[in-house]
Amino acid sequence: SLPPRLYRETVEQLSVAISVTDTEANIVYVNPAFEGLTGYGVKDVVGQNEALLSAKATPRAVYLDLWKTISGGETWHGKLVNRKKSGERYLAELTIVPVKNRLGTIRYYLGMHRDITEMN
Ligand code: FAD
Repeated sequence: SLPPRLYRETVEQLSVAISVTDTEANIVYVNPAFEGLTGYGVKDVVGQNEALLSAKATPRAVYLDLWKTISGGETWHGKLVNRKKSGERYLAELTIVPVKNRLGTIRYYLGMHRDITEMN
């Protein structure tokens, strides 16, 4: 299997913004592309909730669907209205994957997102 160093280098070099959270969506890791997109680096966001990115314009029903899906162990795809550190709004296309341990218990969530503002 892939050595840990290679995993890290792979994630760090991806062009898609990656964040890893605990089961309450508190951020434990973000990759450089996340900082490039949002303006928030590791020091700004580790320990903060992903709600930090919310522009408070996404319908509540979308978040309910998101949480129902991921807490049920399934992958969620969808669009959220986000805000960068600069205050600029953007439309984010997200994929959130529950990461489970060997017993099948959800340990982390892996978030991947890109800015699709230009496509709308
Ligand atoms: P919240 O109270 O946080 O959530 C609204 C509702 O969701 C709650 O009433 C509850 O029903 C449900 N809910 C919240 N937390 C949990 C939980 N731990 N378990 C089960 N149900 C729960 N949000 C964004 O706006 N932009 C993002 O880019 C974004 N990325 C995310 C990436 C990941 C990996 C994860 C796990 C979550 C992400 N979220 C994102 C969701 C974010 O954590 C918030 O739930 C959301 O922003 C709404 O925040 P809120 O404070 O308005 O309401």
